[in-house]
Amino acid sequence: MTRHIDLDRLKKTHPLVEDLAQEKVLFWKNPKKLAYEDLARDLPVPLEAIYEAADRLDRFRPFIQAVFPETQPEGGLIESPLRAIPKMGERLKKEAPFLGDLYLKMDSHLAVAGSIKARGGIYEVLKHTEDLAQAHGLLEDGDYLKLASPEAREIFKGYTIQVGSTGNLGLSIGISSAKIGYKVIVHMSQDAKAWKKDLLRSYGVQVVEYASDYSLAVEKGRAESDQDPKSHFVDDENSMDLFLGYAVAALRLRGQLEEENIVVDEAHPLHVYIPCGVGGAPGGVAYGLKALFKDQVHLYFVEPTKAPCMVLGMATGLQDQIAVKDIGLDGKTEADGLAVGRPSGFVGGVMDPVLDGIFTIEDGPLNPLMKALYEAEGIFIEPSAAASFQGVLMNEEARKVLPALGLPGSTHIAWATGGALVPEDIRKEILK
Ligand SMILES: *Cc1c(COP(=O)(O)O)cnc(C)c1O
Repeated sequence: MTRHIDLDRLKKTHPLVEDLAQEKVLFWKNPKKLAYEDLARDLPVPLEAIYEAADRLDRFRPFIQAVFPETQPEGGLIESPLRAIPKMGERLKKEAPFLGDLYLKMDSHLAVAGSIKARGGIYEVLKHTEDLAQAHGLLEDGDYLKLASPEAREIFKGYTIQVGSTGNLGLSIGISSAKIGYKVIVHMSQDAKAWKKDLLRSYGVQVVEYASDYSLAVEKGRAESDQDPKSHFVDDENSMDLFLGYAVAALRLRGQLEEENIVVDEAHPLHVYIPCGVGGAPGGVAYGLKALFKDQVHLYFVEPTKAPCMVLGMATGLQDQIAVKDIGLDGKTEADGLAVGRPSGFVGGVMDPVLDGIFTIEDGPLNPLMKALYEAEGIFIEPSAAASFQGVLMNEEARKVLPALGLPGSTHIAWATGGALVPEDIRKEILK
């Protein structure tokens, strides 16, 4: 799967690689992006598949309510608020002006997992549960509540769910699968925070720790799971189910924009900034948004300068055939959720005609941005999630090559990808 990289040659054909190797803060404009009309001729994932995923989540609502009681007020819907953050907007404008209004999509506060991983992760576990239940004849009368019964749990106990993770995907898969009744093994990379491992263990999840990066944790987990016919591996690098679960976010966001009377049209484009690790979560969300809002949405990822794997893969065209260590970076960053050295090749390919560009951010500004949001709006997010603001901060520069960013009617959405589960003492420490 990996190939030898001739770095000198690559730097000549792709000067950006030199900048990435030097950990430069930059904006890369994606030259392969297509107008929607051209993209639509050959959609890699049909819109119907996203609607089907949304329907499945609806079918599961009685079950979700029963198994995750914190979702009862929302009737078993796992969704996050879209919040106007004008005070944060004013603060950022003082540092670097941008045109339009700023919103926060608070996946940081999604039920069950406290991160964007509640979307894809829980969706995949539910879909697997539906398949198993059908195979065991549990769903003949279509009563999903039955899947929360002791009889059903007895069946699920015989199956294992495994996943490789830098932290949050492990939390999402681990907590949801353990509550449904599965055995769970989470393969954690070296970057995973101790509190995330402790929290998982408190749910009875088996945590396997690796002294290596994320890609190896995934590889080992996948191999271990493949040996057990009763084990399902949630494959962050390749899973269509994860991707579809994330994409449902677009349908939900459309409803929220309508509710808030936020107009999206040619003069009022949406600009959405999403922190990126391996690419699954931001890729799924971005794809769903593109399918719904077409040319009126502009999509950007944000990556740490120390682990810019997606921009490296997409800009060189090598996708998952290149990793940040091939250009001399160790991939270690304070943004634990983004500490990924090799991108998903599947997501990179799907994003080629979709994504507007990728920003990079140093570790230094992450905590100050997180703190600024907390002081201005009273909202706590994790440092990885604060990376989303980099897109707004670099608007003036990106506008030179992306004129849509210069429209005063723009709506900017920073996608807050995690935060609600961070324990109180750790919060205090990082806010200090
Ligand atoms: C997982 C995660 C991301 C990025 O998602 P990928 O699918 O790895 O690209 C961003 N922020 C946080 C907080 C995350 O947990």
